[in-house]
Amino acid sequence: MSAACSVEHCPDKPRAKGLCNRHYKRWLKYGDPTGTPTQDVDEIAVQRAMNGQPPSRMTPAERAAATLALHRQGLTGPQIAEQLRISRRTVQRIREAAGVAAKRDQALVASRKSAVLQLSTDGLTGRQIAARLGISDSRVSVIRRAA
Ligand SMILES: [Zn+2]
Repeated sequence: MSAACSVEHCPDKPRAKGLCNRHYKRWLKYGDPTGTPTQDVDEIAVQRAMNGQPPSRMTPAERAAATLALHRQGLTGPQIAEQLRISRRTVQRIREAAGVAAKRDQALVASRKSAVLQLSTDGLTGRQIAARLGISDSRVSVIRRAA
């Protein structure tokens, strides 16, 4: 076994097939030691995810494909997150990377704002409101300050 991974410029020690742990894992997953997730989209996995049954193991590329497809169907960030069982932050990151703006989120923002203000009137603390609505404490503060 040679002293280094067979991938050019990789200084790591080989683990199997002359590849280091990291490159060996990529080879197992993508069939190419230098493979990246963007090369690997299983359309069936994407379809399942879009139908609300995401496979337990989805590649980042599959998540991105499903996110953008649902986005094109007009779903909001939280709806996409729920459907794909990923975080809202992930949805946001994927949309930002693809350069597409959130759709119809204006309606969501408006309804969230009125919910925050209503719960605030009901006497709940910022933390309680955040927990109730599934949003962050700082988001609640921003909404209350703006009101
Ligand atoms: Zn390597």
